[in-house]
Amino acid sequence: MKPIQLISPVDGSVYAERVPLTPDAAKAAVARARAAQKGWAARPLEERIALVKAGVAKLNEMAPVIVEELAWQMGRPTRFGGEFGGVNARTEYMSQIAAETLAPKVVEDSDKFRRYLAREALGVVFIVAPWNYPYLTTINTLVPALIAGNTVVLKHASQTLLVGERLAEAFHAAGVPADVFQNVVLDHATTEALIGARAFNFVNFTGSVGGGAAIERAAAGTFTPPGLELGGKDPGYVRADADLDAAVDTLMDGAMFNAGQCCCGIERIYVHESLYDAFVEKAVAWVKALKLGNPFDKESTLGPMANKRFAKVVRDQIAEAVAAGAKPLIDPAHFPADDGGAYLAPQVLVNVDHSMRVMMEESFGPVVGIMKVKDDAEAIRLMNDSPYGLTASIWTRDYDTAAAIGAQIETGTIFMNRADYLDPALCWTGCKDTGRGGSLSYLGFLSVTRPKSYHLKKV
Ligand code: NAP
Repeated sequence: MKPIQLISPVDGSVYAERVPLTPDAAKAAVARARAAQKGWAARPLEERIALVKAGVAKLNEMAPVIVEELAWQMGRPTRFGGEFGGVNARTEYMSQIAAETLAPKVVEDSDKFRRYLAREALGVVFIVAPWNYPYLTTINTLVPALIAGNTVVLKHASQTLLVGERLAEAFHAAGVPADVFQNVVLDHATTEALIGARAFNFVNFTGSVGGGAAIERAAAGTFTPPGLELGGKDPGYVRADADLDAAVDTLMDGAMFNAGQCCCGIERIYVHESLYDAFVEKAVAWVKALKLGNPFDKESTLGPMANKRFAKVVRDQIAEAVAAGAKPLIDPAHFPADDGGAYLAPQVLVNVDHSMRVMMEESFGPVVGIMKVKDDAEAIRLMNDSPYGLTASIWTRDYDTAAAIGAQIETGTIFMNRADYLDPALCWTGCKDTGRGGSLSYLGFLSVTRPKSYHLKKV
């Protein structure tokens, strides 16, 4: 098998290289996961929860290594630490609600009948994970899947090959059996062939729309349910009554954090005409204060994009928009670290419209377009004019209006006065091309279990 190379965005070097499993070795790994599942599910729930939490605790102990590796693998500045805050909060919340969510729901317990609805583990869960938040996106499914009694096979992104290894190392050190959670290195053909051969009972895919479509095609006819958490083009809307400074600060951070490589990053902003000039001026100042550079430099607040091919997509979108009349407000010379490759100067574009790719297609980089709107109706129309629907962020002091606007937006999550955040108690989900299904919250457990009805007549 051809080795998979992880090219570091820091300096273009080959940071890691792994040979993917052959199709036979991959099948054998899944067979081990299948054989281990019933025994794992038979353990008491409290024991599974304790082992999963111990695995996450071990992961925390590895923080210094993990933070450094993340910078090498995908360029995030080390000053931001790892993803431990979210990993711990999500693990804690899903552990807390597990007993109640998974408990049988009794509808009758009389001298004649005992009838109840139970939830049963699906079997072997397959996680296909992306590189952009490589620990968080995996944890969202890994934790509830294991707690619910499934075994898990993880295939991580080529850009973050070491993340799956670290997760497996931590969970195994904590006592989770090797066959209950396996990290495997797979190429696309073997990944799709396994899905097509009904190897799994559930596939959670987080990644691009194209990748999601390939997974759905691979699963066609196998009745393997795919959970698809795909791309986004998330809007922010700043109403006339917004707290302007807070809106600028949160929306620009939402657009630029992680070099814009966040599924729920802010990619387009609509501002009421009364605040538009002030918003744009402050947004430009906010971006100019960023420091683009080597992620190991303590001063850097913006690292390289994870791969120079991702930066090229963003450069092309910006160039096309500018050729079509958009105005770039940031002079790239302000960011001397821009090397024409993975290190990309952030950009703020005005004079944009929805005929431009930069306002319609996912950029997944440090660029944002800002448009002026005259009222809520225009903002709602523009926010909905997108193939995606992950989150939308509304800035206002009026709670009722935010909720009313939210009801008209085609999206998975509505934020008021915040953005770019996952609440473990709320379902992480999307509509339109952003995907199907949901993770986190009590609904996250429903994705990795199936209902089982018990209708017991007493004699
Ligand atoms: P990607 O290229 O689609 O890859 C995601 C994962 O799927 C990787 O492990 C990749 O493996 C694998 N993969 C891709 N195509 C495949 C195929 N045809 N067959 C088998 N496996 C395949 O996405 P990415 O670039 O890693 O991630 C960025 C995307 O993820 C963005 O669109 C972002 O919006 C989305 N995302 C969404 C969410 C959400 O919650 N909705 C969260 C995070 C990211 P290789 O790496 O080996 O190619």
